[in-house]
Amino acid sequence: MGKKLAVMGSGYVGLVAGTCFAEIGHEVTCIDINEDIVERLQDGDIPIYEPGLEEMTLRLQKSARLSFSADWKSALKDKDAIFIAVGTPKREDGSCDISYVLSAASMIGETIEEDTVVVNKSTVPIGTGELVSGEVNSLLEDRFGDSGPRVEVVSNPEFLREGCAVGDFMKPDRVVVGSESPPARTLIASLYDPLDTVVVKTGLRTAEMIKYSSNAFLSTKISFINEIANVCELVGADVQQVARAVGLDHRINRDFLGAGVGYGGSCFPKDTEALAQIAGQGGYHSQILNAVMAVNQQQRTRFARKIIRHLPEGVENPRLAVLGVSFKPNTDDMREAPSVDIIHDLQSEGVKVSAYDPVAMDNAKSKIPGVEWGSSAEEIIEGADGLVLLTEWDEFLKLDYDRVKEKLNNPLVFDGRNALPMTELIERGFDYYGVGRGVDRLDDIIPCQRLLEDNKSNRK
Ligand code: NAD
Repeated sequence: MGKKLAVMGSGYVGLVAGTCFAEIGHEVTCIDINEDIVERLQDGDIPIYEPGLEEMTLRLQKSARLSFSADWKSALKDKDAIFIAVGTPKREDGSCDISYVLSAASMIGETIEEDTVVVNKSTVPIGTGELVSGEVNSLLEDRFGDSGPRVEVVSNPEFLREGCAVGDFMKPDRVVVGSESPPARTLIASLYDPLDTVVVKTGLRTAEMIKYSSNAFLSTKISFINEIANVCELVGADVQQVARAVGLDHRINRDFLGAGVGYGGSCFPKDTEALAQIAGQGGYHSQILNAVMAVNQQQRTRFARKIIRHLPEGVENPRLAVLGVSFKPNTDDMREAPSVDIIHDLQSEGVKVSAYDPVAMDNAKSKIPGVEWGSSAEEIIEGADGLVLLTEWDEFLKLDYDRVKEKLNNPLVFDGRNALPMTELIERGFDYYGVGRGVDRLDDIIPCQRLLEDNKSNRK
């Protein structure tokens, strides 16, 4: 039977989770303290871009299983479970800011009047669940005394990916439900009964740790293949073929082995850094996580330098056409997007940048000043001195590259995602530069040659 749920926070996670919980039969109120967001949602205007979400949200809103409210005092009452899905941004020192989670906990403690289960969906440092429990229950004790209502806290981390969030929620690889209270754990696990998935039941801290471990592992895979790509450039190997063959080993698997300009977004950068901080606070210096972050940052600088190195000689005030600025395709999210650093590096070397992105330009304008924004890929390519692909939106992969070549001043392509067909482009007369594929100059493979020469001279 459907349960009555409240979801605090109507951003990428809260809105998707709330909508999908309504889709599988629960009655959901999505709450946000940002009244503009709530008003837009009430008017059927979905503030984020996520494929498939709009249709589902509007349909469920009509059926009254899904509603939106900024009036949290009434919306939090009389619920079987309240989900916290608010932001946990990075603080200046790289640690995780849980102030939004704790204020959501205060709002719950100041409002509810009956036993409830509070579920933390936000990604939070290990031990936050206990802080939330302490905050809500002490407020309830102040209001009702010893025999009043109490909450049990469950950690139910979210693993959805922006760009395919609805599909990920409806078909999860697993659902993690962690709590010290078996009845609370059972209740939250049962919300997912309509989904065909594995539910992993754990303690509270273990569930919090699972989320960080998953994201840190994926960041590690990306930085690992990027490091391999950098070595491929030195030795004249092709990272695409290396990654494919390595990934065919089922123990390794192909996912997240795409070399490029590195990871971005609202999760990997902040969660990897937060886990390194958490380890550090416990007196453990994580060598792996610190290296993962350093490689990720270096990847952006290396790509910008590669572009500068290969700009056509003698062109005064070169202008490059940048395709895609969101941190990955199918999202308008610009948080920690590699494009921000790469375009900044290009501009500081005197390169003019024109850019186009199918959905992220509104979010990007304030983050990347000095860019001339176009209304289509074709528009910015016209008369540019080269093309730079930073986000592999499908429409960029389907461009007619013969026409692109005609429109460009120079047939130069810098493929920051290794997403374009290198061989075809080279056959069409492009100078193609990817990441870890296509040796720039023969001199670049010096280390390998030196090794061969040393061995030759030492041959017995
Ligand atoms: P977001 O910034 O898109 O949305 C957060 C929303 O919470 C905002 O609209 C904000 O106004 C609202 N909010 C803040 N305090 C509130 C309160 N007290 N009551 C009600 N609303 C409040 O954030 P997001 O991307 O949805 O991420 C939420 C959490 O989920 C983070 O911890 C994040 O790390 C985690 N997460 C994100 C993703 C992702 O892909 N975005 C995936 C998995 C997990």
